[in-house]
Amino acid sequence: MTCVALVIVVAAVVVVVVVKVVVVVVVVVVVVAAAVVVIAAAVVIVMVVVVVVHSSRSGSSSSSNSRVVVHTQCSSRRISNSTSRHHECEIFSGREQEAEESAHNWKNCGKNPGHERFLSVQDFIDDYLPRLPSSQNCEVFKSKIDLTVRLRVHCTSYDRPDDDDFAEYRGTSKLRVGTGSVEEVFRKRRHNKRCFCDKCRGEAPRKQWEFVVMTAQHVVYNREEAKETKVDFFYDEDSCQGDGRMKTLWGVKVKRSIPDMDRCYMVCVTCDEDLGKRIEAARRCSDKLNLRYLPDLGLLPFREKNCDPILIISHPHGQPKKITVGERQNKCAWNRRVEYNTPTCPGSSGAVVFENDRRDLWSVSPVHSGSKTPIQHDKQDNKLGGCVTAQEQLNYGYDWYSFSQYWYKSFETI
Ligand SMILES: [Zn+2]
Ligand SMILES: [Zn+2]
Repeated sequence: MTCVALVIVVAAVVVVVVVKVVVVVVVVVVVVAAAVVVIAAAVVIVMVVVVVVHSSRSGSSSSSNSRVVVHTQCSSRRISNSTSRHHECEIFSGREQEAEESAHNWKNCGKNPGHERFLSVQDFIDDYLPRLPSSQNCEVFKSKIDLTVRLRVHCTSYDRPDDDDFAEYRGTSKLRVGTGSVEEVFRKRRHNKRCFCDKCRGEAPRKQWEFVVMTAQHVVYNREEAKETKVDFFYDEDSCQGDGRMKTLWGVKVKRSIPDMDRCYMVCVTCDEDLGKRIEAARRCSDKLNLRYLPDLGLLPFREKNCDPILIISHPHGQPKKITVGERQNKCAWNRRVEYNTPTCPGSSGAVVFENDRRDLWSVSPVHSGSKTPIQHDKQDNKLGGCVTAQEQLNYGYDWYSFSQYWYKSFETI
């Protein structure tokens, strides 16, 4: 009897021990499994982040727009690491007067000989704008034209890196011409700030206007270059320069720059009330351009009615404003690079690239950065006489999300 009781006790003890061991093992297994799952999830998240960041750097993602023809591999590059010159500033040799050299370069252009697709402001307003449906606001086009400025930069900063496109000109005052556009206008009342223009002669003006001009960073690199930059307003035709319609201001400083997107916001100031009010009015009128009807204006080439038209207003070769039209070729989803066949020339760098439908509220218009169009110098070998057709051009710019400005470190703030 005693023996049976002993066996039962031992068995009970064994059962309890086994149950405890099983419970401990199960708990350990569950904990280990949970840890493995957490680690695996973390690894997957890290990998996804790495892939996304890599995509945005290398541009390995495919075009987000399957409707358009993709001509080239989409590739991203940090502007500051660029080794080949694609940027489209017009560099003046200084051997001739500025105006003569600009006219000479315009006439002997290797990229768009004849400039057939470059419309003057007057031709565009007289011949093409009236073809728009009456519901379309032509004033928006005109305001965009008024807000476009020519930039003449007489300085190349030593701060530019060795691999900069214009590194060889560092420390010189060689003239470089590009394009910009007024993005913001502030009316200031600064009674204590003296002005040394002809009108004020050292007195403090009652009113001042501050313009924020957007351009490419390779056009105006930093404050040092901004201060040596002439900003020409209303240079719409040759005669504007002589008859006083063109107004010139000096740059003051750089408000913000985004090297990865080749974008710079520089500031210039005026006490000229007429200029201030005109630009203020243009800015107020300047809504988003509706380019939906552009294919109907007869501004070829458009392969299809529902293409993505892209319009650029710029100062090719430092000449009066010209308007060119083409269509989008490619777009990388991650690196914000936009490619188009809208004709451009040296001097077009920094111009706004007007697109029709911005896909998101936060996106800001791209700025023209450069060209990958091969320039045919040997006219004998080319039936086109050295000219690349508009369809063959491959020009590019970068857009960006406005909220991403907080991710970038500004050079300076106002
Ligand atoms: Zn040209
Ligand atoms: Zn003044």
